[in-house]
Amino acid sequence: MSLAHGRPYLAIPGPSTMPDRVLQAMHRGSPNIYEGGLIELVAGLWPDLRRVAGTAAHVAMYIGNGHAAWEAANANLFSRGDKALVLAVGQFGLSWANSARAMGVDVEVLDFGKAVAPDMGRVEAALRADTGHRIKAVLTTQVDTASSVKTDIPALRAAMDAAGHPALLAVDCIASLGCDEYRMDEWGVDVTVAASQKGLMTPPGLAFVWFSEEARMRCKGGDLATPYWAWGPRAEPVEFWQYWDGTAPTHHLYGLREALDMINEEGLAQVWHRHRVLAGAVWATFDAWSAGNPAIAMNVADPGARGWSVTAARMGAPHATRLRTWTEKQAGVTLGIGLGMAASDDPAYHGFLRVAHMGHVNAHMTLGALAVMEAGMVALDIPHGQGALAAAAKVVAAGA
Ligand SMILES: *Cc1c(COP(=O)(O)O)cnc(C)c1O
Repeated sequence: MSLAHGRPYLAIPGPSTMPDRVLQAMHRGSPNIYEGGLIELVAGLWPDLRRVAGTAAHVAMYIGNGHAAWEAANANLFSRGDKALVLAVGQFGLSWANSARAMGVDVEVLDFGKAVAPDMGRVEAALRADTGHRIKAVLTTQVDTASSVKTDIPALRAAMDAAGHPALLAVDCIASLGCDEYRMDEWGVDVTVAASQKGLMTPPGLAFVWFSEEARMRCKGGDLATPYWAWGPRAEPVEFWQYWDGTAPTHHLYGLREALDMINEEGLAQVWHRHRVLAGAVWATFDAWSAGNPAIAMNVADPGARGWSVTAARMGAPHATRLRTWTEKQAGVTLGIGLGMAASDDPAYHGFLRVAHMGHVNAHMTLGALAVMEAGMVALDIPHGQGALAAAAKVVAAGA
């Protein structure tokens, strides 16, 4: 008999759990988009959007998802034929590379596999080899949501500086903004992209691009930035509609306002701390399960190279799919599918899953999801080591 009747928990790495406060803020009639409260509300969003990314840079907002954020960055950073160096540690760097290539950018991919952080020596060497400085920008994810590999952004900046290369640095923080520590200005990042539906706890539909004055100056006059995608008028509009090159995403803006209020109330440092501790609880759990069954393993062996918002793992096919089905049907917890590890028609696909601990999540949600996973392993006779939940509890107790 299913025990799933109660509040469902979507523990997939985006869209993330929606806070009731965000939903309630959106539940209203259509506002006037020419004068009044919405205009004032929007004026207050920009300082908070800068704060959450650790920057004084320009911000452009688009109606779109993460893929739109990539295209927005590409359209402004590059002209046709410009070169990009893309770091790939999973799926999303490769997808960003594909979008740039399709737009006419000459893309060089440095692929580091799917389980380790990028080798900055290789990045430095690739930049040194570009003696003509054709590479206009280096593109990377902070956290690749498919592999859960985290890229050390200050180390990447240091490698670019060591190579003496003038390329701009652009970072995809779609899975990590409001989860993992991120300091755009302090870390020397020129362009940051994010979207609303992960750490920012707002429904899918808003894309953000932060860009430095240096990036704005060096990218002026590019031939890819059509009126819709050009970041300049969005960051410095003369009229309100120019923020979105058209009608404002009215209800999303109320939701975003509430989400940013929630982040401000908790404090960004505390938000990062919460994600780090909950990630630690997930990792301790997997370590204990693995000890009793080597087929169970986190995708990233080095804890320093793991993102704080999502954990990718394997447990031998078909157990990951069996477990995901069980947790959803029997206990109301939906876990993430494995992404980019095996094709969906390959039997190996059923050996991968991901647990999200992203955005509006607290200790009881993460501990509950882990306990439900363990119950599922018991029910399905999936061998696993003992003491996992006690290990998770210890991490939470130490971090609280
Ligand atoms: C989710 C995600 C994307 C894609 O975002 P969509 O909203 O699905 O287009 C891109 N990059 C990263 C790191 C992500 O986590």
